[in-house]
Amino acid sequence: TVRTRYAPSPTGYLHIGGARTALFSYLFAKKNGGQFILRIEDTDTERNIEGADLEQMNGLEWLGVVADESTEKGGPCEPYRCMQRLDLYTEYADRLVAEGKAYYSYANQAELEQEREEQLARGEAPKFSGWDRHLSEEQIATYQAEGRVPSIRLAVLPDQMLAFSDYVRGDVEFDSNGIGDFIIVRPDGRPTYNFAVVIDDALMNITHVIRGEEHISNTPRQLCVAQALGFEAPKFAHIPLILNHEGKKMSKRDESIVQFISQYRDLGYLPEAIVNFLALLGWSPEGEEEIFTLEELTYLFSLERVSKSPATFDTAKLKWMNNYYIKKSSLERITDLAIPYLEKAGKISSSLTPEQKEWITRLVGLYQEQLDEISQIVELSDIFFRQDIHYSSEAEQILAEDSVLAVISSYVSQVQAQDELDVATVKSMFKAVQKETGFKGKQLFMPVRAVISGETHGPDLTETILLLGKDTVVKRLQSFVD
Ligand code: GLU
Repeated sequence: TVRTRYAPSPTGYLHIGGARTALFSYLFAKKNGGQFILRIEDTDTERNIEGADLEQMNGLEWLGVVADESTEKGGPCEPYRCMQRLDLYTEYADRLVAEGKAYYSYANQAELEQEREEQLARGEAPKFSGWDRHLSEEQIATYQAEGRVPSIRLAVLPDQMLAFSDYVRGDVEFDSNGIGDFIIVRPDGRPTYNFAVVIDDALMNITHVIRGEEHISNTPRQLCVAQALGFEAPKFAHIPLILNHEGKKMSKRDESIVQFISQYRDLGYLPEAIVNFLALLGWSPEGEEEIFTLEELTYLFSLERVSKSPATFDTAKLKWMNNYYIKKSSLERITDLAIPYLEKAGKISSSLTPEQKEWITRLVGLYQEQLDEISQIVELSDIFFRQDIHYSSEAEQILAEDSVLAVISSYVSQVQAQDELDVATVKSMFKAVQKETGFKGKQLFMPVRAVISGETHGPDLTETILLLGKDTVVKRLQSFVD
């Protein structure tokens, strides 16, 4: 069976790029009736961030990219956290040393740097020569007396063609002569990524490694390790880079793009919009259709249709998609998601009466079509929460027209005369004003809208009037007339 994995290092929060890698791995596994595994690669201990593993896991679950096996869920290949697998790595490293395929390396930093500089000076590509592969007992004793603690390096075989067939890149080949003996176990006993990943993927029966293109140069090293350990290498798919609007490789420091999945959640993006958007970053199905649910994606996805060329992150498209899914969602759902933003902005209290809840639902309904991000509800609905209305310059212009005072004066007396406002009374009030003043259409509605909202554009006028309520409407009209 197909088994894929996402193997984040807990060095940061769930990033767009990581989420896309996880999504592709998940989709490929599910498409093929297989399993998707989440493994935490935490051996780079200095770079770990407390809580980042859970944050990543929760972010993926929110997207619906749920792992079959993980640190939290457990599974047949436990443990799923590399730092809990140290004994395993040691066992395999010891075996390689015993077989002469790896060795204790005493070269220190200064020596490594010196060799590197000499190679560069000679115009050679720097590569560790492995001069300490075969040290005499005395040399070893001397180094130990100096306090040197060895690392373990793989003795890379010369003249090997390290080849693999990548789903995306096609046939890829590296010459092993370009690879110096590299560290597989650090002096303190922790494995390096290139060593641990091979053991973990093999022992977890991973069949397909789907990961970012930046890892392609690690692959030959991992093939060397697999070969030395006698493991069959998994199949690889290196998925394309994501570029920002300027066509540059997106980096985590790039401020032109919101980078983390949790930030999108905080802004009011729907998980299905993000999933749909991420799926199309480097992959496309046949045909023109662009809207897909996670479920649809799980039967459409194929690695063959992943593009070799980089994907461009298009923020406008993501917003468009989010707006699409917001419009498609039930008003109840969007209201529940909108309430926390209004609460946080101090517009509404944290305990709502049923009437208040009903009013807010209608308020959100007024703007649902317009929202690209649910958090925009705060700004859009501002006129419902403020005492004074500021007229926009377009509104000022409308209100400067001669016809306006007559319309507003007539309208205010109409409103005052009503006991209660409803759709029918709002309609009949406009009719009455039309009759009284002779103005109709735009000349009638625009001034009213401008006075009660300060804007010349906005959502449905009748509903706006109803939601503002009689008192507020009268107050705003009156203050204009005065
Ligand atoms: N821990 C690695 C990373 O975060 C995983 C690379 C891989 O998928 O092999 O990039």
